[in-house]
Amino acid sequence: MTGPPRAPRILITAGPTREPLDPVRFISNASSGRQGVALAADALRRGWSVDLVHGPLEVPVPEGAACHAVTTATEMLEACRALHPSCDLLVGAAAVSDFRPRGASTSKRKRGTEVWTLELVPTEDILKVLGVQKGSRVHAGFALESENLIENALAKLHGKRLDWIIANTPGAIGAGMSRCHLLGADGTQKDLGVATKAEVAQALLDAMAGSRGLH
Ligand code: C5P
Repeated sequence: MTGPPRAPRILITAGPTREPLDPVRFISNASSGRQGVALAADALRRGWSVDLVHGPLEVPVPEGAACHAVTTATEMLEACRALHPSCDLLVGAAAVSDFRPRGASTSKRKRGTEVWTLELVPTEDILKVLGVQKGSRVHAGFALESENLIENALAKLHGKRLDWIIANTPGAIGAGMSRCHLLGADGTQKDLGVATKAEVAQALLDAMAGSRGLH
């Protein structure tokens, strides 16, 4: 006998990462984590199981999500690698730092008059790494583009082997609303207009559910 079908499991990344320079200083960005949290809330409303891998958030996490707090891009990748095999859907909504300082100092650098030159090395692209072992999972991400919005977002969609991508403009970061487009690997191009993060979450999860024959 087979039991009832298990709830779909979605892995969501949210918020910024922090890349340490020394024990008290770091490089980061203005992401609040609101979009990832809105996605988690929408998925929970659908009865899905949610793994939320998040950097430092400005908003509370929704009750019912399995939360995995991380700080750096490397920690976020490791948490996602561990959770990805058991997920059916993945959304990368985190604003992962693209660079980290080479060789963070273990002691606080003292204030002085000398110039401090930083050397930054690229972090790994989490969605791209997980895209290699995508299998039948549905993957989605976000593209924040200041120019050639659709063209650049489509390049990211294909480069990261995504099924769906939300394209929006830099005003979106940390803000409540932004002008968004939903683009699909199947050729879908839908202008979502000026949408709230909750509306973006609903549109994206509807599209992802459609890809899996879910509701
Ligand atoms: O290439 P770009 O950083 O613009 O792509 C944005 C998308 O890729 C977002 O969905 C973001 O969560 C994801 N990303 C990632 N790992 C990175 C950088 C971005 O998963 N290191």
